[in-house]
Amino acid sequence: MSPVFLLNCVGTVAFAVAFILALSIPSANPAIGRGAKYTLLGAVGVFLFNSASNVLEYSGVTMALDVYGDYAKVLFVPLVVWSAFAKLNSERLLRARQEEAKHREQSDLLAGILETSPAGVIVADESGQVTFSSRPAERLLERAMPGQLDLASVVRSAPTTRLSVPIGPEGERSYLAVRAKALQSADGLPQRAVIALTDVSDRVKAERQIEEYQQGLEREIDRRTGELMEANRQLQSANDARQDFLAKMSHELRTPLNSIIGFSEVMLKGLSGPLTRDQEAQLGIVHSSGQHLLELVNDVLEISRIDAGYSPVSISRVDAGERMARLCASMGAIAANRDVDLQCACKGSTTVETDSEKLDQIVRNLISNAIKFTDAGGRVLVAVDGGRDSLLVRVTDSGIGIAAEDQQRIFGAFQQVESADGPVREGTGLGLTICRELCDSLGGTLTVDSTPGEGSTFTLTLPRQFPGNHVVL
Ligand code: ADP
Repeated sequence: MSPVFLLNCVGTVAFAVAFILALSIPSANPAIGRGAKYTLLGAVGVFLFNSASNVLEYSGVTMALDVYGDYAKVLFVPLVVWSAFAKLNSERLLRARQEEAKHREQSDLLAGILETSPAGVIVADESGQVTFSSRPAERLLERAMPGQLDLASVVRSAPTTRLSVPIGPEGERSYLAVRAKALQSADGLPQRAVIALTDVSDRVKAERQIEEYQQGLEREIDRRTGELMEANRQLQSANDARQDFLAKMSHELRTPLNSIIGFSEVMLKGLSGPLTRDQEAQLGIVHSSGQHLLELVNDVLEISRIDAGYSPVSISRVDAGERMARLCASMGAIAANRDVDLQCACKGSTTVETDSEKLDQIVRNLISNAIKFTDAGGRVLVAVDGGRDSLLVRVTDSGIGIAAEDQQRIFGAFQQVESADGPVREGTGLGLTICRELCDSLGGTLTVDSTPGEGSTFTLTLPRQFPGNHVVL
């Protein structure tokens, strides 16, 4: 193979590569422009064609294309090198332009954000010199008087946050929240920081108003608490005086009444000598009236004690079944006197946390009513029924019953119902009122269910555990 043929082969390949490089130069390249690119493409194309024709000629294929052979040899190296250089350089420049456009876009965006943000942004160095400030920051800085906003100390102490820095003259004072973040600086440069300034005047003023309002409120609460304590003290002493009065009255009323009842009983028994029939009848009235009055006095005093809060509960674990059985046994004689059959029945677990004395007092009153309002030959049943959360004590009688319209009224003070068979039976009309009050103090309820002529059932429901704060004895 002759060296000329070899040289032409190398030339063909080199011009082919140069043609591809020139073709791939971006048309919008900033270095050579569109016209220069196509000129270069044309030149390389001509030399490519020439080199190819030389190769064909030396390989004996054809002689027809042998033109401009010498030019190809002269421009071989610079044209190929320039094509390669033009491609590389134009690509680099294009990339740089794209980077620049991206950068400009980002800085426009940042400038837009800084302008529209309510917070002002500045960049300052440690001597307090401002090297950049957004327009809102400039407006805020204009209001600051000398010495009010020490940027140098803010930069030195970055990162920092100062929540309300006062600026502006007295009377037109504004407050700024100042946040600083240190910037990384190259060695030798003074330290710098980005400082965000936010006008928080409205918030500071609102906080001050709330604080003043709170202080006013606290003063008012203190004043009212003092007044309440004084009123409470006066109430307490009035209550004590009332209790004192009740205790005295109790003594003053009971003593003569006991004498009236006792002596009339002595006389009725004939211990003070014989009595005429009229005297005996009149003395009987004195005796029963005295007893009625004593009952009334006792009930009124009891209600007063409960109302005044002088009847505290004393809570213990009680076996209500056993207690009710004992109560029925103790009242058996009264029932027998009236020819009424009194029974007690228990079901389930009957232990309950309650005040045993008050429980007895309620049920005793219910049994005594049941016996009183049941005619001879009737029955009274006390049933104790232990449920999961509560305990029921039902006092059922086969007595005269209560009309539906009277069933709520009888729990009111001094309320008695006239029975169909005659006048009101003995009593004060206070027993059920006392029962309800006692029941409330134990956290329970007392209800009645009755049919006139058939009998009544009074149901006491007590919680298994006494509600509220207490000590179980
Ligand atoms: P009292 O001292 O008159 O018995 P209470 O407050 O205990 O006072 O009862 C009020 C009224 O309720 C009674 O006068 C009576 O009319 C009615 N009452 C209470 N218990 C019964 C009952 N078991 N059967 C019928 N009526 C009753």
